[in-house]
Amino acid sequence: MKNNVSTKILEGIENATEITSNIQGECPKCGGTSLDYGDVVFEDFIDDGAVYFPWTCPDCGAEGREYYYIYFATHKVKDKEGYFDEVEKW
Ligand SMILES: [Zn+2]
Repeated sequence: MKNNVSTKILEGIENATEITSNIQGECPKCGGTSLDYGDVVFEDFIDDGAVYFPWTCPDCGAEGREYYYIYFATHKVKDKEGYFDEVEKW
């Protein structure tokens, strides 16, 4: 069973030699939409304001990173009851 899975992944890597798309949630090599995402990584945040989710594609075995830019939205400040209230004044 484990051998079959490994063989399938290796065949996928050999067959998926070109990038075919750049779409959120899709494998750029095979177009698969079942990407397995890891936790967000802030490693490159200071350099370019981006973070990424590492992913692997169970369909072809490719590995990659899906990048997102982060923009400031608002502050929320903790009140006496422990709730975080959105700051309304700009
Ligand atoms: Zn793939």
